[in-house]
Amino acid sequence: MKQPPDLSVRQFCYACENEATSVEHTPPKCIFPQLKDFPHKNLRRNLITVPSCDHHNSAKSKDDEFLMISLAGMLGNNSIGYVHSITKVDRALRRSSYKLIERIFVSNRKFVRIDLGGNKFIDAIAGTPDIDRLNMCFKHIALGIYRHHFSTNFKGEIKALVSFLIIEHQGRSKLQEFLLARARRDTRDLPRHGENPEVFSYQLVDPDENGIFLIKLCFFENIEIFCALIPHASNVPTHLGFELMKHGMPVTFTLDGDEYPVHVE
Ligand SMILES: [Zn+2]
Repeated sequence: MKQPPDLSVRQFCYACENEATSVEHTPPKCIFPQLKDFPHKNLRRNLITVPSCDHHNSAKSKDDEFLMISLAGMLGNNSIGYVHSITKVDRALRRSSYKLIERIFVSNRKFVRIDLGGNKFIDAIAGTPDIDRLNMCFKHIALGIYRHHFSTNFKGEIKALVSFLIIEHQGRSKLQEFLLARARRDTRDLPRHGENPEVFSYQLVDPDENGIFLIKLCFFENIEIFCALIPHASNVPTHLGFELMKHGMPVTFTLDGDEYPVHVE
């Protein structure tokens, strides 16, 4: 196990060039259920921390709550995610008189009833989430994980691919399906890191020939976020299919015998 950061020696923030003044949990601590809500098991074993400046720590606390509420109630999560959603997350929602829900779903918010079969139903809220804010949260987690794992800062661009977003444009949704299938294949047999895998784990794919590599973040054994880390110095490869697609041409990608017809206009 890695030791937590020692701030008695001068360190730099995991996300910028400023000097670190505190440590930041990555992912945020509030994602991990407290013992009072989940008394049978300690789910906060050796949480990952990285050195952080004031701006990238305290200024993020609202984002941390936003992320906690966005993730915990997701359909398909394990029972720990469910317990978290009806305890700590529910308390935060009540405190805000449910105003926080408005920040999670920026538009098209509606109640839906999902048929589980066998006369069982579940009530849920669906809508268009604040994608930019979610992406920013995942990018910060990827930066933190990188710093923790390699003891150095990542410098470059991060692109996040989020498994739970349902894209209604058919051509684009096929592109997402293709990218997810490829990222899942690349991470399938890799070791999982993190001491509370029921809540969070991560995997790393070695850099490719262009120095680009992939971090998979997994929450509640269900939510998958794939972050591509593209260093400043790398030559982003040009792939004919992606180039044609950018110009609005229909393209079909194939992977393991499956076809993904993509058309982005
Ligand atoms: Zn900073």
